[in-house]
Formats: sequence, C-alpha cells, structure tokens
Amino acid sequence: MSYVEKVIEELHSKYPWEKEFLQAATEVLESLDAIVEKDLIYKEAKILERLVEPERIVIFRVPWVNDNGEVQVNRGFRVQFNSAIGPYKGGLRFHASVTLSMLKFLAFEQIFKNSLTGLPMGGGKGGSDFSPVGKTDNEVMKFCQSFMTELYRHIGPHTDIPAGDVGVGGREIGYLYGQHKRIVNRFDSATLTGKGRSFGGSIFRPEATGFGTVYFVQAMLKTKDESLDGKTIGISGFGNVAWGVSQKATELCGKVITLSGPDGCIIDPDGVGTEEKWNYMLEMRASGDDIVKPYSDKFGVKFYENARPWDIVPMDIALPCAFQNELNEENAKNLIKNGCKLVAEGSNMGCTQEAWKMLNERIKFAPGKAVNAGGVAVSGLEMSQNSERLSWTAEEVDTQLHRIMENIHAQCLEAADAAGSHGDYVKGANIAGFLKVAEAMLAQGVV
Ligand code: GLU
Repeated sequence: MSYVEKVIEELHSKYPWEKEFLQAATEVLESLDAIVEKDLIYKEAKILERLVEPERIVIFRVPWVNDNGEVQVNRGFRVQFNSAIGPYKGGLRFHASVTLSMLKFLAFEQIFKNSLTGLPMGGGKGGSDFSPVGKTDNEVMKFCQSFMTELYRHIGPHTDIPAGDVGVGGREIGYLYGQHKRIVNRFDSATLTGKGRSFGGSIFRPEATGFGTVYFVQAMLKTKDESLDGKTIGISGFGNVAWGVSQKATELCGKVITLSGPDGCIIDPDGVGTEEKWNYMLEMRASGDDIVKPYSDKFGVKFYENARPWDIVPMDIALPCAFQNELNEENAKNLIKNGCKLVAEGSNMGCTQEAWKMLNERIKFAPGKAVNAGGVAVSGLEMSQNSERLSWTAEEVDTQLHRIMENIHAQCLEAADAAGSHGDYVKGANIAGFLKVAEAMLAQGVV
C-alpha cells in the first residue's frame, strides 16, 4: 500500500461521515501520489497526516432574536486548517445545509487555492447553518452581530481573515465588520475582505471570482489557439460568480446562455449580455428569494422547472458557478454528447468525482481551486491596500488579477508536465499548491 493510499484509508475510517471533506481530500491526495513516493521526507515528517488535520476548529452557539421577538439558535463554525504560508484566509458560508464536513472541505480546498495565487495566505473557512432566505435586513444584521460577538476573538489581520462565500456578500460583511470594530475598538481594515468601497474594500472584489474564472478559461483556450469569441457558455447559479462571469465573458465576445437557481434554470438564447440583465441578477439576489424564475418572466425567456442547464441546451463551455456537486456523471455524459469541449469550475468542487474524472479524460477540465482563485486573490490585494492605507485603481487591480490567473494556469500546466500528466489541470493544481505549503511545513518543524 502506498503512503497516499494509507493516509486515504485512515481518513476514511476516522471520519466516515464527513462525505464532502473525504471527497475533496481524496482528490488532492491521489494527485500527490507520485510526488510523495519520490521523496521520503514527506512520509518521514508525516506531512500528509498533518495536512489533512485542521490546526484548529471553533464551533459556537449563535443566539439571536427575530423580528417577531422569538429566540433563534444557529451553529457557527471557523475551520482554521493550515497557516504554513500565511494567516488563515477564506470565506464564510451562510446556508441551511452548512455542516462541519462542508466547511472542512472548503477550508481544505482553500489551502491549495491560496497557495496557487502566490500570495501569503493560509487556508480557512467558516460559516453557519443560518439561512438568509426570507430573512429581513434587520434579522440578518442581528445574526451577523451575534456571530461576530464570538468570532472576533479568533480572527485578525495576522491570524485569520474571513470574507464572503455563498450567502455572505457585501451586506453581511458590512454588518460583521461594524460589530468587529465596535468590540475591538480598532479600525482593523484587514480583518475582513469583501468590504464596501467606502471603508477599505477593493475595487472589483465583487466581480473578481467571475472575472478570474473567465481569464482562466481564456488561458485554457489559448493553449489551442482559440478564444471565447463566438463560444456559447452555460453557467449555473445567478449569484456573485455567475454575475461576474456573464460580464467578462460578454466583454470577450462569448455568449452566456443559461442561469440557474434551486428552482430550475433559464435559457436565454440572446445571451445574458446587457447591463439591464446583470443588474437584474443583483436584484434577484438582493430579494433574498433564491429563485431564478423571475428572470424568465422579466425577459420573456424559457424557464425549466427543477432542471439543470447541462442537459437542456448544447453549449461549447460549461461553468458550474453555484455550489458543490452540481454537475454529476449523467450531466457530464450529456455535455460531452452535445459537443461541449471545456468544463471549468467557478464553484468549489462543482462537479462530482465521477463527473470530473470523465470530463478530465474526454475533454478539457479544470478544478475550482485553480479556476475560481481570482476571488481570494483580490482579497489578498485588498489586504495589501489596507495595510498600505491606499486604494488601487480599477486598472491596477484588473491587471494584477489577470496576471495572477495566467500565472495559476501556467503553474498547473508546468506541475502536470513535471508529473508526466500533460494537460491534467487537476493534478497540476494539487501538486503546485501542495509543494509550496509542504516546503513551508517542513521548514517550520513539527508544529
Ligand atoms: N469564498 C471565496 C473562495 O471560495 C473567497 C475567499 C476569500 O476571499 O477569502 O475562495
């Protein structure tokens, strides 16, 4: 049994109920097989065993009172997974389905993603099983204030810097930041990223994950002397990532023909390509209803109840941009059958294991930790701007983001080539992300 196989087996027997985490960890560990077999040092220093065990997890009660005066209780989490190359960094997810397993998988992915950006950020993630759907502004504020009343003691610019994720956008970060400032009596800008522009946020942070996703896809296409020009693109979701992707893909002459929500999907044959449509996406999100059907009523396009975009319409490029495991084996088969040539994950672990393996073998595939790293990269740039007490121009941030995404793309291909797996973005991303973290862990001794 190889070193990697042994660690995977131990992990499965220790935490059999942590499905999402096991899925993410298995993918990474399998990619590292050749690397860790070649050099005994990893095994001797038990690097893999240490890598899969979070440095710290905080779980806490979040009590708050709703608009009817009723007491509510949610569970809050922060998984501080790895700080070898920098303070823990990663978003907060507020969603009814949040569990420790989900946040462990996201924090684990974040270690490699953040390493790939080339910026000094470790991996973390947090959140709560609080669902913002149907809550008033006042209720969201009350929840955020209670959440931060515990979280503040575990975070800070040199310790852990949370940001947004599903269910946590500019509004939530504003409330969280306000409460943090009030408790610590310090304007510690770089304690949270994704802040509003008026109090230290970076230009393009809201767009960054989507823009970065498109830059990565552009780099993938360039290896075959192709561009986005005239390509049809199917995306899932209608949130932050989908919004950024629609704008940048349109600018580069691609056509986004689908959006989706928990209620179903819409097909827009003219493309989600106008200011009015992008603004409407923001409106749908701000409504808090979490459904995409209103888009079809507003723009007179077809809505398919409970359907996923992948099976309904042919597309050149498919970009899951909403949640984990939203594209399965059946969807992958349909995509390939209908002529799709490239799938890249805007969302973390957007494809199931069976799906990405098939896509990786048959067409071009790239994983979330590489593709969607633009969001956290611009968070890193936000931290730099905060510590320098200045604010960069749109052009400066966009140029940096573009450069970082091209660099991540190049790192993936180089690492894959070096491992003898030409063009394998999954292996490339995992190996390149790992090598830097492992080097730092080895240098810092057994900690
Ligand atoms: N939640 C985002 C991600 O998955 C952003 C994290 C951040 O900006 O810290 O990378």
